[in-house]
Amino acid sequence: MKPAPILPGAALGVLGSGQLGRMFAMAARRLGYRVHVFSPDTNTPAGQVADVEIAAPYDDLDAVRAFARSVDVVTFEFENVPAATAEAVVEIVPVRPNGAVLHVAQQRAREKGFLAEKGFPVTPFVRVTAEDELDAALARTGVPAVMKTASLGYDGKGQAKVADAAAAREAWRRMGGVEVVVERFIPFEREVSVVAARGLDGWTTSYGVIENTHANHILDVSVWPADVPPHVERRASEIALGVLEALDVVGVLCVEFFLTADGGLLINELAPRPHNSGHLTIDAAVTSQFEQQVRAICGLPPGSVDRLRPAAMANLLGDLWVGGEPDWAAACAIPNVKLHLYGKADARPGRKMGHLTALAETPQQARELALKARAALRSDRV
Ligand code: AMP
Repeated sequence: MKPAPILPGAALGVLGSGQLGRMFAMAARRLGYRVHVFSPDTNTPAGQVADVEIAAPYDDLDAVRAFARSVDVVTFEFENVPAATAEAVVEIVPVRPNGAVLHVAQQRAREKGFLAEKGFPVTPFVRVTAEDELDAALARTGVPAVMKTASLGYDGKGQAKVADAAAAREAWRRMGGVEVVVERFIPFEREVSVVAARGLDGWTTSYGVIENTHANHILDVSVWPADVPPHVERRASEIALGVLEALDVVGVLCVEFFLTADGGLLINELAPRPHNSGHLTIDAAVTSQFEQQVRAICGLPPGSVDRLRPAAMANLLGDLWVGGEPDWAAACAIPNVKLHLYGKADARPGRKMGHLTALAETPQQARELALKARAALRSDRV
């Protein structure tokens, strides 16, 4: 029997309290839900806009259970939620997406193995658990190769491009001798992503293809729609919807792809939650990825994913604060540019502090406008 929908007025729980939780909470509160967030910290980006902010370690299972009892459903905003935490919650209220999705997505080797086994196109990879397996792994992937820690890596952390066996051994030791995946280096033409969602009763939606550029392994700029041929557009959405089904996801999931010069798509990684590349849907779509997440986990129908205007998003990292507070008024003076800040007090280099979204007639114009607005934040630094 289909579970009853969780209606506005109910309380939604979020594990994790960063910017994704913040934007989720804002969407949920707009719909009339209450939001409780749980993380080890206080005065967090999500906690600042939630109804209730609980600060306790993820392994304090009594606190986790008390949190679960105070809400109607729980979701998460990062995939490294410990399994025991999700298991403690699910004894009391549903976790959406379910714990099996977390299990797959929080370990690269498991994620890639799952995708390959289900027939999805992934970057060729070899799992390595001991140093003496490195030579054989490189022989299979070829060089250059990319080594990534199997667990707890994101935004290029725990990653190294290696040109030969000696470099691989050095990288292995630097990474602490933990399990890694060794991947073939893909000379991709572009990186693209698809943010898609699946509801409790099986509906699916996709925003289509978003084009991403990275700087220092961190997402820098996203543009929607991506400039890709219709068959790439169709195939990428088809793969993303297939992954949602295969993992039985209830919620939003992002698939990050490498697009090769011959139009081939390879999955780089999955994020079983709203994604940085989808932030532009807040201003540019009828329904944002965060509202879609609320609808999906609450058993509501999907919102329209129609695009209002072509859009581009530029991330604002802590580096922008070097030399003082950025010139917010200058960016806000530019028509069709929207400023989003995450309420983080401490602007460390590389830390995601906010983003700008620009709307325009064409994706290319939107991109130029977003970059112009970001440059205006630091006009003192020409
Ligand atoms: P990841 O943490 O896996 O998302 O990797 C971060 C970034 O590193 C990606 O967005 C790519 O720009 C680059 N990268 C990762 N894996 C590969 C690969 N196998 N070949 C080429 N570039 C890669």
